[in-house]
Amino acid sequence: MKKGKLKIKNILIAILILLLIIFGAIKYIIHINTDEYKLKQIGYSKQETYLLKENLNQEQIDIILEKEYSNTITDLIQEKYFLFKNLDTYLEYCKTNKNTNITDVITKINTNTHLDYYTNIKSTDLSKDTLALLNKYYKVDADYEPEDLVNMSLSHAYSGHKTRQIVYTNYMKMCSEAKKDGYTLVTISSYRTNSFQEALYNDYANKNSVAYADSISARPGHSEHQLGLALDIVSINSGFGGFEETEEYLWLKDNAHKYGFIVRYPEEKEEITGYSFEPWHYRYVGVEVATYIYENNITFDEYYAFYIE
Ligand SMILES: [Zn+2]
Repeated sequence: MKKGKLKIKNILIAILILLLIIFGAIKYIIHINTDEYKLKQIGYSKQETYLLKENLNQEQIDIILEKEYSNTITDLIQEKYFLFKNLDTYLEYCKTNKNTNITDVITKINTNTHLDYYTNIKSTDLSKDTLALLNKYYKVDADYEPEDLVNMSLSHAYSGHKTRQIVYTNYMKMCSEAKKDGYTLVTISSYRTNSFQEALYNDYANKNSVAYADSISARPGHSEHQLGLALDIVSINSGFGGFEETEEYLWLKDNAHKYGFIVRYPEEKEEITGYSFEPWHYRYVGVEVATYIYENNITFDEYYAFYIE
C-alpha cells in the first residue's frame, strides 16, 4: 500500500513539473512575439518603446518593426504635425540635412517645400470646396470658374469685383463689424480668371525677374483668387502700399478669423507659403478653420496637409 501511494505521488509531481514546463514555454513564446520584445531586439530602449506604442497604431508599429533602429523616429513621432505616411521622406531628409530641427523637417515635408517650387504639381481637390488648396504645388485647371460668383457692392469694393457667395456674405458681415469700430474696408482685388492671373504674373516676370514674380504673384492656375476664395482688402484711405501700417490692418489681423478669413501669406512664414508677407491678402476658409489657424499660428498649407489632405 505504501509503495502504491508513493507511485501516485511521483506521478503527480511529474505531471506538475510537466505543466510548469509547458506553462513556461507558452509564456516565453508569447513574450518573444510581443512588440516590446521585438522592438528591444532592434535596439529600442524601454522609454523609446513606450513612446512608439503610445503614438502609433498596430499597423504602424508593424512597419517600424521592418525598419532598422533609428532614434530619429522617436523624435519625429512626438511632433504635433507628424504624419506617418511621410515617415520615409522625413528620415531621408534628416539624413542629408542634419542641422535642420525636427519641427522644421516636419513642416517642410508636409507642405512640400523641401521640393523646388512648381515641381511635383498636383491638381487640387475641388470637392474640398472652401478648403481647396492652391499653392506652388497645387493647381486648378485654366478653365475653372466658380459657379456662385456674385457682384460685390460698391460700398466695400472698387468697381467690377466678384467673389463666391459664401465669401461675400461673410466679408460683408466683417465689413459692418469693422465699420462699428470706425474702419472702412474695401476690396481692391477679388476673383481673377486664369488669363488675368497669367497677364499679371508675366508682367511682374518681364519687368523684374521670374524669382521676383514668384515671390509676390502666383503663376496662372496657382492663385486662390481664381477659386473666388481670396480677397485683397485695404483701407479706404490706403492702397496696397502702407496698408500694413494702418489700423484697419491691425483690426483685420485679430478679427478676420471670426468671419472665416485668414492672412494667407503671413509675416515670417515666407519659407512655408513661398510668398512675401501680404497684409492685404485674405483667404476664406470658414470660421472654424480660420480660428484654428489664427490660434495656432500656422499657415493654411500646414493645416491642409495635416487635417484635410
Ligand atoms: Zn491677393
